[in-house]
Amino acid sequence: MKSSITLWKVTLLISLFITIFGNFSFWSHLTNRLSPIDEPLILIGFFIILLALTNLLFTLVSFKPVFKLIAIIVLLTSASAAYFMDNYAVMIDKTMIRNVLATDFHETKELMSFRLIITILLLGILPSWLVLKANIKYPSLLKSLFQKTAISVICAGIIATTLYTNFQELSFFSRNNRELQHLINPENYILSLKSIIKRQFIDRNIVIKPIGKDASKKPNIGENRKPSLVVLVLGETARSMNFSLNGYQRNTNPLLAKQDIINFSDVSSCGTATAVSVPCMFSKFTRDEFSHSKGKQYENLLDVAKHAGYQVHWRDNNTGCQGTCGRITFENLANIKLSEFCKDGNCIDEVLLHNLQSVVNEKTGDKLIILHQKGNHGPTYHLRYPKEFEIFKPACKTNQLRSCSNEEIVNAYDNAVLYSDFFISQTIDFLKKNSESYDTAMVYMSDHGESLGENNLYLHGLPYFIAPEYQTKVPFIVWLSDNYQKSYDIDKSCLNQKSSHKLSHDNLFSSMIGLLGIQTQVHDEKLDIFSSCNKTIITKKP
Ligand SMILES: [Zn+2]
Repeated sequence: MKSSITLWKVTLLISLFITIFGNFSFWSHLTNRLSPIDEPLILIGFFIILLALTNLLFTLVSFKPVFKLIAIIVLLTSASAAYFMDNYAVMIDKTMIRNVLATDFHETKELMSFRLIITILLLGILPSWLVLKANIKYPSLLKSLFQKTAISVICAGIIATTLYTNFQELSFFSRNNRELQHLINPENYILSLKSIIKRQFIDRNIVIKPIGKDASKKPNIGENRKPSLVVLVLGETARSMNFSLNGYQRNTNPLLAKQDIINFSDVSSCGTATAVSVPCMFSKFTRDEFSHSKGKQYENLLDVAKHAGYQVHWRDNNTGCQGTCGRITFENLANIKLSEFCKDGNCIDEVLLHNLQSVVNEKTGDKLIILHQKGNHGPTYHLRYPKEFEIFKPACKTNQLRSCSNEEIVNAYDNAVLYSDFFISQTIDFLKKNSESYDTAMVYMSDHGESLGENNLYLHGLPYFIAPEYQTKVPFIVWLSDNYQKSYDIDKSCLNQKSSHKLSHDNLFSSMIGLLGIQTQVHDEKLDIFSSCNKTIITKKP
Protein backbone atom coordinates (compact mmCIF):
# COMPACT_ATOMS: atom_id res chain seq x y z
CA MET A 1 0.00 0.00 0.00
CA LYS A 2 1.14 3.52 -0.79
CA SER A 3 2.63 5.12 2.34
CA SER A 4 0.46 7.81 3.84
CA ILE A 5 1.08 11.07 5.66
CA THR A 6 -1.11 12.72 8.27
CA LEU A 7 -2.88 15.96 7.50
CA TRP A 8 -1.16 18.03 10.19
CA LYS A 9 2.26 17.01 8.88
CA VAL A 10 1.41 18.09 5.32
CA THR A 11 0.08 21.38 6.63
CA LEU A 12 3.24 21.99 8.62
CA LEU A 13 5.47 21.06 5.66
CA ILE A 14 3.68 23.45 3.29
CA SER A 15 3.88 26.23 5.89
CA LEU A 16 7.60 25.57 6.34
CA PHE A 17 8.14 25.55 2.57
CA ILE A 18 6.39 28.90 2.03
CA THR A 19 7.97 30.48 5.11
CA ILE A 20 11.44 29.70 3.80
CA PHE A 21 11.21 29.78 -0.01
CA GLY A 22 8.33 32.20 -0.50
CA ASN A 23 9.87 34.87 1.69
CA PHE A 24 13.34 35.59 0.29
CA SER A 25 12.55 39.30 0.06
CA PHE A 26 11.36 39.47 3.63
CA TRP A 27 14.37 37.60 5.01
CA SER A 28 16.85 39.64 3.02
CA HIS A 29 15.25 42.98 4.05
CA LEU A 30 15.16 41.77 7.63
CA THR A 31 18.81 40.74 7.78
CA ASN A 32 19.89 43.94 6.02
CA ARG A 33 18.17 46.08 8.59
CA LEU A 34 19.21 44.23 11.72
CA SER A 35 22.34 45.02 13.66
CA PRO A 36 24.63 41.99 14.14
CA ILE A 37 23.82 41.91 17.87
CA ASP A 38 20.04 41.76 17.38
CA GLU A 39 20.25 39.51 14.41
CA PRO A 40 19.95 35.93 15.70
CA LEU A 41 17.31 36.69 18.29
CA ILE A 42 14.99 38.72 16.08
CA LEU A 43 15.57 36.51 13.05
CA ILE A 44 14.62 33.38 14.98
CA GLY A 45 11.72 35.24 16.58
CA PHE A 46 10.29 36.26 13.21
CA PHE A 47 10.85 32.82 11.76
CA ILE A 48 8.90 31.14 14.56
CA ILE A 49 6.08 33.69 14.35
CA LEU A 50 5.77 33.44 10.56
CA LEU A 51 5.80 29.66 10.58
CA ALA A 52 3.27 29.43 13.42
CA LEU A 53 1.02 32.05 11.79
CA THR A 54 1.01 30.38 8.37
CA ASN A 55 0.46 27.00 9.96
CA LEU A 56 -2.40 28.40 12.03
CA LEU A 57 -4.11 29.88 8.95
CA PHE A 58 -3.66 26.64 7.02
CA THR A 59 -4.95 24.50 9.87
CA LEU A 60 -8.17 26.48 10.04
CA VAL A 61 -9.03 25.68 6.41
CA SER A 62 -7.63 22.15 6.18
CA PHE A 63 -10.84 20.18 5.75
CA LYS A 64 -10.82 17.06 3.65
CA PRO A 65 -12.98 18.08 0.67
CA VAL A 66 -11.15 21.35 0.02
CA PHE A 67 -7.68 20.91 1.50
CA LYS A 68 -5.78 19.93 -1.65
CA LEU A 69 -7.48 22.62 -3.73
CA ILE A 70 -6.73 25.36 -1.19
CA ALA A 71 -3.13 24.17 -0.74
CA ILE A 72 -2.52 24.25 -4.51
CA ILE A 73 -4.08 27.70 -4.93
CA VAL A 74 -2.00 29.08 -2.05
CA LEU A 75 1.21 27.46 -3.35
CA LEU A 76 0.75 28.84 -6.88
CA THR A 77 -0.26 32.30 -5.69
CA SER A 78 2.60 32.45 -3.19
CA ALA A 79 5.05 31.47 -5.92
CA SER A 80 3.86 34.34 -8.15
CA ALA A 81 3.91 36.77 -5.21
CA ALA A 82 7.46 35.68 -4.35
CA TYR A 83 8.56 36.20 -7.95
CA PHE A 84 7.34 39.81 -8.10
CA MET A 85 8.68 40.68 -4.65
CA ASP A 86 12.08 39.13 -5.38
CA ASN A 87 12.48 40.47 -8.92
CA TYR A 88 10.90 43.90 -8.83
CA ALA A 89 11.13 44.71 -5.12
CA VAL A 90 7.39 45.37 -5.05
CA MET A 91 5.43 45.16 -1.82
CA ILE A 92 2.07 43.48 -1.73
CA ASP A 93 -0.69 45.47 -0.09
CA LYS A 94 -4.31 46.30 -0.89
CA THR A 95 -3.29 48.73 -3.62
CA MET A 96 -1.03 46.20 -5.29
CA ILE A 97 -3.75 43.53 -5.19
CA ARG A 98 -6.25 46.02 -6.66
CA ASN A 99 -3.75 46.69 -9.44
CA VAL A 100 -3.28 42.99 -10.06
CA LEU A 101 -7.04 42.49 -10.22
CA ALA A 102 -7.30 45.39 -12.67
CA THR A 103 -4.54 43.98 -14.89
CA ASP A 104 -5.71 42.83 -18.26
CA PHE A 105 -4.55 39.93 -20.35
CA HIS A 106 -2.09 41.98 -22.41
CA GLU A 107 -0.40 43.41 -19.36
CA THR A 108 -0.05 39.92 -17.95
CA LYS A 109 1.46 38.77 -21.21
CA GLU A 110 4.05 41.54 -20.96
CA LEU A 111 5.14 40.22 -17.56
CA MET A 112 5.66 36.65 -18.75
CA SER A 113 9.24 35.48 -18.65
CA PHE A 114 11.41 32.40 -18.43
CA ARG A 115 12.35 33.25 -14.85
CA LEU A 116 8.69 33.62 -13.89
CA ILE A 117 7.91 30.21 -15.36
CA ILE A 118 10.86 28.62 -13.52
CA THR A 119 9.81 30.23 -10.22
CA ILE A 120 6.21 29.07 -10.63
CA LEU A 121 7.48 25.62 -11.55
CA LEU A 122 9.81 25.23 -8.57
CA LEU A 123 7.85 27.09 -5.89
CA GLY A 124 4.34 26.41 -7.16
CA ILE A 125 3.80 23.50 -9.51
CA LEU A 126 6.32 21.05 -8.04
CA PRO A 127 5.03 21.24 -4.44
CA SER A 128 1.45 21.32 -5.78
CA TRP A 129 2.10 18.12 -7.66
CA LEU A 130 3.47 16.50 -4.48
CA VAL A 131 0.36 17.61 -2.56
CA LEU A 132 -1.87 16.26 -5.31
CA LYS A 133 -0.14 12.89 -5.31
CA ALA A 134 0.17 12.57 -1.53
CA ASN A 135 -1.87 9.95 0.18
CA ILE A 136 -3.11 12.10 3.03
CA LYS A 137 -4.61 10.45 6.09
CA TYR A 138 -7.50 12.63 7.18
CA PRO A 139 -8.79 12.28 10.73
CA SER A 140 -12.49 11.79 11.42
CA LEU A 141 -14.50 15.01 11.71
CA LEU A 142 -14.62 14.92 15.48
CA LYS A 143 -10.92 14.14 15.78
CA SER A 144 -10.18 16.79 13.16
CA LEU A 145 -11.98 19.47 15.15
CA PHE A 146 -10.16 18.44 18.28
CA GLN A 147 -6.84 18.41 16.43
CA LYS A 148 -7.45 21.83 14.86
CA THR A 149 -8.29 23.34 18.22
CA ALA A 150 -5.15 21.85 19.74
CA ILE A 151 -2.88 22.99 16.88
CA SER A 152 -4.42 26.47 16.88
CA VAL A 153 -3.86 26.79 20.62
CA ILE A 154 -0.26 25.58 20.24
CA CYS A 155 0.47 27.97 17.34
CA ALA A 156 -1.16 30.90 19.12
CA GLY A 157 0.78 29.96 22.26
CA ILE A 158 4.07 29.85 20.36
CA ILE A 159 3.37 33.27 18.79
CA ALA A 160 2.39 34.75 22.15
CA THR A 161 5.43 33.31 23.94
CA THR A 162 7.84 34.48 21.24
CA LEU A 163 6.31 37.95 21.29
CA TYR A 164 6.33 38.06 25.08
CA THR A 165 9.92 36.96 25.56
CA ASN A 166 11.29 39.30 22.84
CA PHE A 167 8.63 41.95 23.07
CA GLN A 168 10.88 44.97 23.26
CA GLU A 169 13.14 44.04 20.35
CA LEU A 170 10.39 42.72 18.09
CA SER A 171 7.94 45.55 18.68
CA PHE A 172 10.66 48.18 18.32
CA PHE A 173 11.81 46.66 15.04
CA SER A 174 8.25 46.19 13.70
CA ARG A 175 7.25 49.74 14.56
CA ASN A 176 10.23 51.13 12.68
CA ASN A 177 9.92 48.78 9.71
CA ARG A 178 6.16 48.61 9.38
CA GLU A 179 6.26 48.30 5.61
CA LEU A 180 7.99 44.90 5.82
CA GLN A 181 4.63 43.33 6.70
CA HIS A 182 3.80 43.72 2.99
CA LEU A 183 6.60 41.26 2.20
CA ILE A 184 5.26 38.45 4.38
CA ASN A 185 4.03 35.70 2.09
CA PRO A 186 1.21 34.48 2.04
CA GLU A 187 -0.30 36.72 4.76
CA ASN A 188 0.26 39.86 2.64
CA TYR A 189 -2.02 38.88 -0.20
CA ILE A 190 -4.51 36.88 1.88
CA LEU A 191 -5.19 39.78 4.25
CA SER A 192 -5.26 42.34 1.41
CA LEU A 193 -7.64 40.19 -0.59
CA LYS A 194 -9.84 39.71 2.46
CA SER A 195 -10.23 43.43 3.02
CA ILE A 196 -10.83 44.07 -0.69
CA ILE A 197 -13.58 41.45 -0.79
CA LYS A 198 -15.11 42.91 2.38
CA ARG A 199 -14.95 46.36 0.76
CA GLN A 200 -16.59 44.98 -2.39
CA PHE A 201 -19.60 43.85 -0.35
CA ILE A 202 -19.88 47.26 1.26
CA ASP A 203 -19.35 49.02 -2.09
CA ARG A 204 -22.13 47.06 -3.70
CA ASN A 205 -24.74 48.88 -1.65
CA ILE A 206 -23.23 52.30 -2.21
CA VAL A 207 -25.51 54.95 -3.62
CA ILE A 208 -23.23 57.39 -5.40
CA LYS A 209 -23.70 60.86 -3.93
CA PRO A 210 -23.93 63.57 -6.56
CA ILE A 211 -21.63 66.56 -6.26
CA GLY A 212 -21.70 69.90 -8.04
CA LYS A 213 -25.32 69.62 -9.15
CA ASP A 214 -25.31 73.44 -9.06
CA ALA A 215 -22.48 73.58 -11.63
CA SER A 216 -22.93 75.94 -14.56
CA LYS A 217 -20.75 77.88 -16.93
CA LYS A 218 -19.85 81.29 -15.49
CA PRO A 219 -21.97 84.02 -17.09
CA ASN A 220 -19.10 86.51 -17.40
CA ILE A 221 -17.01 84.47 -19.85
CA GLY A 222 -15.97 86.44 -22.95
CA GLU A 223 -18.91 87.37 -25.15
CA ASN A 224 -17.22 86.22 -28.30
CA ARG A 225 -16.31 82.89 -26.84
CA LYS A 226 -16.58 79.77 -28.92
CA PRO A 227 -17.51 76.41 -27.46
CA SER A 228 -14.58 75.06 -25.45
CA LEU A 229 -12.60 72.00 -26.35
CA VAL A 230 -10.37 70.94 -23.47
CA VAL A 231 -8.22 67.82 -23.58
CA LEU A 232 -6.90 66.32 -20.38
CA VAL A 233 -4.04 63.94 -21.14
CA LEU A 234 -3.82 61.53 -18.24
CA GLY A 235 -0.25 60.27 -18.19
CA GLU A 236 0.97 56.88 -16.97
CA THR A 237 4.09 56.20 -14.89
CA ALA A 238 5.85 59.33 -16.15
CA ARG A 239 8.20 60.67 -13.53
CA SER A 240 8.98 64.32 -13.35
CA MET A 241 12.77 64.12 -13.20
CA ASN A 242 13.09 62.45 -16.59
CA PHE A 243 11.52 65.43 -18.35
CA SER A 244 14.08 67.86 -19.74
CA LEU A 245 11.45 70.56 -19.05
CA ASN A 246 12.19 69.86 -15.40
CA GLY A 247 15.95 70.04 -15.78
CA TYR A 248 16.79 66.47 -16.86
CA GLN A 249 20.11 66.59 -18.68
CA ARG A 250 18.85 64.53 -21.62
CA ASN A 251 16.65 66.23 -24.16
CA THR A 252 13.50 64.19 -23.64
CA ASN A 253 11.09 67.05 -24.43
CA PRO A 254 12.33 68.50 -27.73
CA LEU A 255 8.82 69.13 -29.09
CA LEU A 256 7.04 70.37 -25.99
CA ALA A 257 9.91 72.80 -25.46
CA LYS A 258 8.87 74.45 -28.73
CA GLN A 259 5.19 74.63 -27.79
CA ASP A 260 3.98 77.61 -25.86
CA ILE A 261 3.31 75.68 -22.64
CA ILE A 262 3.41 76.30 -18.92
CA ASN A 263 5.36 73.57 -17.15
CA PHE A 264 4.81 73.02 -13.43
CA SER A 265 7.99 71.54 -12.05
CA ASP A 266 7.23 70.53 -8.47
CA VAL A 267 4.12 68.37 -8.40
CA SER A 268 3.40 65.40 -6.11
CA SER A 269 1.08 62.52 -6.86
CA CYS A 270 -1.76 61.30 -4.67
CA GLY A 271 -0.70 57.66 -4.77
CA THR A 272 2.07 55.50 -6.15
CA ALA A 273 -0.21 53.33 -8.29
CA THR A 274 -2.89 53.88 -10.92
CA ALA A 275 -5.67 52.36 -8.80
CA VAL A 276 -5.13 55.00 -6.11
CA SER A 277 -3.97 58.02 -8.07
CA VAL A 278 -6.57 58.09 -10.84
CA PRO A 279 -9.71 58.10 -8.64
CA CYS A 280 -7.97 60.50 -6.24
CA MET A 281 -7.03 62.95 -9.03
CA PHE A 282 -10.64 63.27 -10.16
CA SER A 283 -12.18 63.33 -6.70
CA LYS A 284 -13.02 66.48 -4.77
CA PHE A 285 -10.98 65.16 -1.85
CA THR A 286 -7.37 66.01 -1.17
CA ARG A 287 -4.79 63.29 -0.61
CA ASP A 288 -5.22 63.58 3.17
CA GLU A 289 -8.98 63.18 2.95
CA PHE A 290 -9.17 60.66 0.11
CA SER A 291 -9.86 56.97 0.59
CA HIS A 292 -10.79 54.23 -1.81
CA SER A 293 -14.35 54.14 -0.48
CA LYS A 294 -14.78 57.93 -0.68
CA GLY A 295 -13.67 57.69 -4.31
CA LYS A 296 -16.50 55.22 -4.89
CA GLN A 297 -19.11 57.09 -2.87
CA TYR A 298 -19.02 60.44 -4.60
CA GLU A 299 -19.28 61.77 -8.11
CA ASN A 300 -16.14 63.44 -9.40
CA LEU A 301 -14.72 66.12 -11.67
CA LEU A 302 -16.11 64.44 -14.79
CA ASP A 303 -19.64 64.54 -13.36
CA VAL A 304 -19.27 68.19 -12.34
CA ALA A 305 -18.24 69.07 -15.91
CA LYS A 306 -21.24 67.15 -17.18
CA HIS A 307 -23.59 68.94 -14.78
CA ALA A 308 -22.25 72.21 -16.19
CA GLY A 309 -23.24 71.15 -19.70
CA TYR A 310 -19.93 69.73 -20.97
CA GLN A 311 -19.89 66.64 -23.15
CA VAL A 312 -17.37 64.45 -21.38
CA HIS A 313 -15.63 61.73 -23.36
CA TRP A 314 -12.95 59.32 -22.09
CA ARG A 315 -10.62 57.55 -24.56
CA ASP A 316 -8.52 54.82 -23.00
CA ASN A 317 -5.28 53.10 -23.99
CA ASN A 318 -4.70 51.81 -20.47
CA THR A 319 -6.64 49.54 -18.12
CA GLY A 320 -9.74 51.70 -17.88
CA CYS A 321 -10.83 54.69 -15.85
CA GLN A 322 -10.62 53.07 -12.38
CA GLY A 323 -14.28 53.64 -11.63
CA THR A 324 -14.32 57.34 -12.47
CA CYS A 325 -16.20 57.31 -15.78
CA GLY A 326 -19.45 55.51 -14.92
CA ARG A 327 -21.69 58.35 -16.06
CA ILE A 328 -19.84 59.65 -19.13
CA THR A 329 -18.91 58.29 -22.57
CA PHE A 330 -16.10 55.74 -22.42
CA GLU A 331 -14.22 54.44 -25.42
CA ASN A 332 -11.70 51.63 -24.99
CA LEU A 333 -8.96 51.77 -27.63
CA ALA A 334 -6.42 49.63 -25.78
CA ASN A 335 -7.29 46.43 -27.59
CA ILE A 336 -8.54 47.55 -30.96
CA LYS A 337 -7.15 46.05 -34.11
CA LEU A 338 -5.50 48.88 -35.94
CA SER A 339 -2.25 47.75 -37.52
CA GLU A 340 -0.95 51.30 -37.84
CA PHE A 341 -0.67 51.66 -34.05
CA CYS A 342 -1.28 48.23 -32.56
CA LYS A 343 0.60 44.97 -32.54
CA ASP A 344 -0.06 41.81 -30.51
CA GLY A 345 -2.76 43.52 -28.49
CA ASN A 346 -0.54 46.43 -27.51
CA CYS A 347 -1.24 49.90 -28.92
CA ILE A 348 1.03 52.90 -28.80
CA ASP A 349 -0.57 56.11 -27.56
CA GLU A 350 -1.17 57.70 -30.96
CA VAL A 351 -4.18 55.40 -31.17
CA LEU A 352 -5.85 57.89 -28.83
CA LEU A 353 -5.74 60.54 -31.57
CA HIS A 354 -7.12 58.20 -34.20
CA ASN A 355 -10.48 59.54 -35.43
CA LEU A 356 -10.49 62.05 -32.59
CA GLN A 357 -11.72 64.63 -35.08
CA SER A 358 -14.92 62.70 -35.66
CA VAL A 359 -15.49 62.53 -31.88
CA VAL A 360 -15.15 66.32 -31.81
CA ASN A 361 -17.36 66.81 -34.85
CA GLU A 362 -20.15 64.60 -33.55
CA LYS A 363 -21.96 67.37 -31.67
CA THR A 364 -21.45 71.05 -31.06
CA GLY A 365 -21.03 72.46 -27.57
CA ASP A 366 -18.44 72.47 -24.77
CA LYS A 367 -16.29 69.39 -24.62
CA LEU A 368 -13.91 67.80 -22.15
CA ILE A 369 -11.94 64.87 -23.56
CA ILE A 370 -9.72 62.63 -21.44
CA LEU A 371 -6.94 60.76 -23.22
CA HIS A 372 -5.66 58.04 -20.89
CA GLN A 373 -2.18 57.08 -22.03
CA LYS A 374 -0.23 53.88 -21.66
CA GLY A 375 2.67 56.32 -21.30
CA ASN A 376 5.66 54.77 -19.54
CA HIS A 377 3.97 51.65 -18.24
CA GLY A 378 6.64 49.10 -17.31
CA PRO A 379 8.46 46.86 -17.11
CA THR A 380 8.23 46.67 -20.92
CA TYR A 381 9.10 50.31 -21.61
CA HIS A 382 10.37 49.34 -25.07
CA LEU A 383 6.83 48.44 -26.17
CA ARG A 384 5.57 51.96 -25.45
CA TYR A 385 7.16 53.64 -28.47
CA PRO A 386 7.60 52.98 -32.20
CA LYS A 387 11.05 52.11 -33.56
CA GLU A 388 11.90 55.61 -34.75
CA PHE A 389 11.75 56.82 -31.15
CA GLU A 390 14.55 54.54 -30.05
CA ILE A 391 17.00 57.39 -29.74
CA PHE A 392 18.70 56.44 -26.48
CA LYS A 393 20.55 53.19 -27.04
CA PRO A 394 21.01 50.41 -26.11
CA ALA A 395 17.51 50.06 -24.71
CA CYS A 396 16.39 47.28 -22.39
CA LYS A 397 14.11 45.03 -24.41
CA THR A 398 12.89 42.55 -21.86
CA ASN A 399 10.58 42.57 -18.87
CA GLN A 400 13.48 41.14 -16.82
CA LEU A 401 14.71 44.52 -15.65
CA ARG A 402 17.40 43.01 -13.45
CA SER A 403 18.97 41.37 -16.48
CA CYS A 404 19.41 44.79 -18.15
CA SER A 405 22.02 47.31 -17.12
CA ASN A 406 20.78 50.43 -15.40
CA GLU A 407 21.70 52.43 -18.49
CA GLU A 408 19.59 50.17 -20.72
CA ILE A 409 16.56 50.49 -18.43
CA VAL A 410 16.84 54.28 -18.30
CA ASN A 411 17.33 54.40 -22.08
CA ALA A 412 14.13 52.46 -22.73
CA TYR A 413 12.27 54.58 -20.20
CA ASP A 414 13.56 57.83 -21.72
CA ASN A 415 12.60 56.72 -25.22
CA ALA A 416 9.06 56.28 -23.90
CA VAL A 417 9.20 59.80 -22.40
CA LEU A 418 10.39 61.06 -25.78
CA TYR A 419 7.40 59.42 -27.42
CA SER A 420 5.03 60.95 -24.86
CA ASP A 421 6.61 64.32 -25.66
CA PHE A 422 5.66 63.71 -29.29
CA PHE A 423 2.18 62.46 -28.39
CA ILE A 424 1.35 65.44 -26.14
CA SER A 425 2.73 67.81 -28.74
CA GLN A 426 0.56 66.14 -31.40
CA THR A 427 -2.43 66.63 -29.14
CA ILE A 428 -1.65 70.34 -28.91
CA ASP A 429 -1.32 70.52 -32.71
CA PHE A 430 -4.69 68.81 -33.01
CA LEU A 431 -6.21 71.48 -30.76
CA LYS A 432 -4.53 74.25 -32.75
CA LYS A 433 -6.23 72.89 -35.86
CA ASN A 434 -9.56 73.13 -34.08
CA SER A 435 -9.03 76.65 -32.81
CA GLU A 436 -11.16 78.20 -35.56
CA SER A 437 -14.30 76.60 -34.13
CA TYR A 438 -13.32 76.10 -30.50
CA ASP A 439 -11.55 77.75 -27.59
CA THR A 440 -8.94 75.08 -27.00
CA ALA A 441 -6.76 74.05 -24.06
CA MET A 442 -4.72 71.04 -22.97
CA VAL A 443 -3.70 69.79 -19.54
CA TYR A 444 -1.26 66.93 -19.05
CA MET A 445 -0.65 65.23 -15.72
CA SER A 446 0.82 61.84 -14.89
CA ASP A 447 -0.66 59.50 -12.28
CA HIS A 448 2.57 58.55 -10.46
CA GLY A 449 6.26 58.06 -11.15
CA GLU A 450 8.54 55.04 -11.34
CA SER A 451 11.68 53.60 -9.76
CA LEU A 452 14.29 52.60 -12.32
CA GLY A 453 16.64 50.63 -10.09
CA GLU A 454 17.56 53.43 -7.66
CA ASN A 455 18.22 51.78 -4.26
CA ASN A 456 17.49 48.52 -6.01
CA LEU A 457 13.81 49.43 -6.41
CA TYR A 458 11.88 48.94 -9.63
CA LEU A 459 8.42 49.87 -10.93
CA HIS A 460 6.07 51.63 -8.48
CA GLY A 461 3.39 51.01 -5.89
CA LEU A 462 5.42 51.32 -2.69
CA PRO A 463 3.42 52.46 0.34
CA TYR A 464 3.38 56.27 0.05
CA PHE A 465 5.20 57.05 3.29
CA ILE A 466 8.31 55.12 2.21
CA ALA A 467 8.04 55.75 -1.55
CA PRO A 468 10.97 57.66 -3.04
CA GLU A 469 10.30 60.87 -5.00
CA TYR A 470 10.98 58.94 -8.20
CA GLN A 471 7.56 57.35 -7.63
CA THR A 472 5.71 60.45 -6.39
CA LYS A 473 6.91 63.44 -8.45
CA VAL A 474 4.92 63.84 -11.63
CA PRO A 475 4.95 66.13 -14.66
CA PHE A 476 2.13 68.66 -15.07
CA ILE A 477 1.84 70.77 -18.23
CA VAL A 478 -0.76 73.26 -19.41
CA TRP A 479 -1.26 74.69 -22.90
CA LEU A 480 -3.82 77.42 -23.59
CA SER A 481 -4.69 78.76 -27.01
CA ASP A 482 -4.76 82.55 -27.38
CA ASN A 483 -8.55 82.38 -27.71
CA TYR A 484 -8.82 80.43 -24.52
CA GLN A 485 -6.72 82.93 -22.60
CA LYS A 486 -8.92 85.76 -23.89
CA SER A 487 -12.31 84.11 -23.37
CA TYR A 488 -11.44 82.82 -19.92
CA ASP A 489 -9.46 85.85 -18.93
CA ILE A 490 -6.33 83.96 -17.91
CA ASP A 491 -3.01 85.72 -17.53
CA LYS A 492 -0.35 83.34 -18.81
CA SER A 493 2.62 85.20 -17.40
CA CYS A 494 1.01 84.98 -13.96
CA LEU A 495 0.73 81.22 -14.40
CA ASN A 496 4.34 81.05 -15.48
CA GLN A 497 5.35 82.78 -12.27
CA LYS A 498 3.62 80.02 -10.34
CA SER A 499 5.22 77.24 -12.30
CA SER A 500 7.78 76.35 -9.66
CA HIS A 501 5.29 76.42 -6.76
CA LYS A 502 4.72 73.25 -4.79
CA LEU A 503 1.61 71.62 -6.24
CA SER A 504 0.01 68.21 -6.16
CA HIS A 505 -2.82 66.09 -7.52
CA ASP A 506 -4.94 67.92 -4.90
CA ASN A 507 -4.90 70.92 -7.25
CA LEU A 508 -6.34 69.14 -10.27
CA PHE A 509 -10.03 69.01 -9.30
CA SER A 510 -10.53 72.71 -8.58
CA SER A 511 -8.07 73.87 -11.23
CA MET A 512 -9.92 71.97 -13.94
CA ILE A 513 -13.24 73.43 -12.73
CA GLY A 514 -11.61 76.86 -12.84
CA LEU A 515 -10.12 76.26 -16.26
CA LEU A 516 -13.42 75.03 -17.66
CA GLY A 517 -15.05 78.27 -16.46
CA ILE A 518 -17.47 76.45 -14.19
CA GLN A 519 -19.01 77.93 -11.09
CA THR A 520 -20.08 75.52 -8.35
CA GLN A 521 -19.97 75.20 -4.60
CA VAL A 522 -17.53 72.28 -4.72
CA HIS A 523 -14.88 74.51 -6.32
CA ASP A 524 -12.11 75.37 -3.86
CA GLU A 525 -10.49 78.61 -4.94
CA LYS A 526 -7.39 77.99 -2.84
CA LEU A 527 -6.58 74.87 -4.83
CA ASP A 528 -7.34 76.39 -8.22
CA ILE A 529 -4.09 77.49 -9.88
CA PHE A 530 -6.01 79.53 -12.48
CA SER A 531 -8.31 81.58 -10.24
CA SER A 532 -5.64 83.95 -8.93
CA CYS A 533 -4.34 84.44 -12.49
CA ASN A 534 -7.60 85.83 -13.69
CA LYS A 535 -6.85 89.21 -15.28
CA THR A 536 -10.09 90.78 -14.09
CA ILE A 537 -9.27 89.87 -10.52
CA ILE A 538 -5.74 91.17 -10.87
CA THR A 539 -6.83 94.52 -12.28
CA LYS A 540 -9.45 94.85 -9.56
CA LYS A 541 -6.73 94.83 -6.91
CA PRO A 542 -5.73 98.29 -5.72
ZN1 LIG B 1 -0.32 54.22 -13.26
